[in-house]
Amino acid sequence: MMKKPFVTKEKVEEIAKKIPTPFHLYDEKGIVENAKAVYEAFSWNKGFKEYFAVKANPNPVLLDLLRQEGCGFDCSSKTELLLSGAVGAQGHEIMFSSNDTPAEEFVLADKLGAIINLDDFTHIDFLEKSIGKIPETISCRYNPGGVFQMSNGIMDNPGDAKYGLTTEQIYEAFKILKEKGAKRFGIHAFLASNTVTNEYYPKLAGQLFELAVDLQKKTGAKIAFINLSGGVGIPYQPDQEGNDIYAIGQGVKEQYDKILVPAGMDDVAIYTEMGRFMMGPYGALVTKAIHEKHTYKEYIGVDACAVNLMRPAMYGAYHHITVLGKENEPCDQVYDVTGSLCENNDKFAIDRKLPKIEKGDYLFIHDTGAHGYSMGYNYNGKLKSAEVLLQKDGSFKLIRRAEKPMDYFATFDCLNVYPKICKIVEEN
Ligand SMILES: *Cc1c(COP(=O)(O)O)cnc(C)c1O
Repeated sequence: MMKKPFVTKEKVEEIAKKIPTPFHLYDEKGIVENAKAVYEAFSWNKGFKEYFAVKANPNPVLLDLLRQEGCGFDCSSKTELLLSGAVGAQGHEIMFSSNDTPAEEFVLADKLGAIINLDDFTHIDFLEKSIGKIPETISCRYNPGGVFQMSNGIMDNPGDAKYGLTTEQIYEAFKILKEKGAKRFGIHAFLASNTVTNEYYPKLAGQLFELAVDLQKKTGAKIAFINLSGGVGIPYQPDQEGNDIYAIGQGVKEQYDKILVPAGMDDVAIYTEMGRFMMGPYGALVTKAIHEKHTYKEYIGVDACAVNLMRPAMYGAYHHITVLGKENEPCDQVYDVTGSLCENNDKFAIDRKLPKIEKGDYLFIHDTGAHGYSMGYNYNGKLKSAEVLLQKDGSFKLIRRAEKPMDYFATFDCLNVYPKICKIVEEN
């Protein structure tokens, strides 16, 4: 399978005249169509809701697009809560799935009416002390421990993860929460990341549905929803086959019909908190080749760096690269594609077969729509890039300007040196 950019070289040239590279570019059409497909795939479940994981891409314009398709927001920090509130999300449209949570964030989540998902047994007391009550609707994050393995060998290690309550704890937690006045309960679990298999959600769902039936029976707690959280992956590699959300939706339905319906629990809502699947493929980092270097290896230096996209440096993650306008040329060169950080891991690609690259060529780094811009940082004093939306009608819109030096220096406004910084920025 070939990975095709959602934009042409000509369009990028047009955008770059107004908005200099590097920038993250998002595909409105792709985002909206995919969100519709997710809702269709789960339309069999009356209460279904996707709570987009805001950390994957906290841009209000993109959040608003998803909201128009019916999505809520999954938040795990104060600023994510504030942003979701600013986009207009209210009450149960916000899921607060955080961990190691500061008291003030529970207070804000409660003020916004968000559903609070507790990451730990001790958070029952902590929440009650923070907000002065236990909400009527409450969720707990479950961690069964051990390893979570799928038939294709993909596995993850919940037993090593810091998240969630143990099996024993979740029974005890539901009993206590019920005594303290909770009326509607949710179960949440996130057991494997970036799963490129249709098997993950159905398998997780089966496990959580069985737990739900037993929990409701043994504790009397009314299970209102089951939150399958994130973890549905995307094909970063060109030879990978992507997930089929319809097959995933059907797979979850089969488990629902097999386990929940016979137990009389046919009113349980299914929630998801996908980030990567909702946005990943519909974003790209567009960057320009500005240097070539021939030493012990062949290097192409681009005007973006790991600050704009951290996944390759951080996890050795693969991001496919297309040289715009050279889609059909043979990949007969082998390059390391590097950024400018003083860190040797600042490479978008290592030993990558690509067409011959000339200075001035635009590179389209695929699949940066989730955990791309948002994971960025400011090392080496590098500034974060702009974000641009390619709209359905083919026009483009700046949806976040690039950082300027004064953004980087703004937190020194408490120091005497700040006027000098302002002056030197102004002069240069
Ligand atoms: C990161 C995260 C998600 C989203 O994960 P994806 O892999 O992007 O789908 C959802 N829920 C929680 C609690 C998370 O921390």
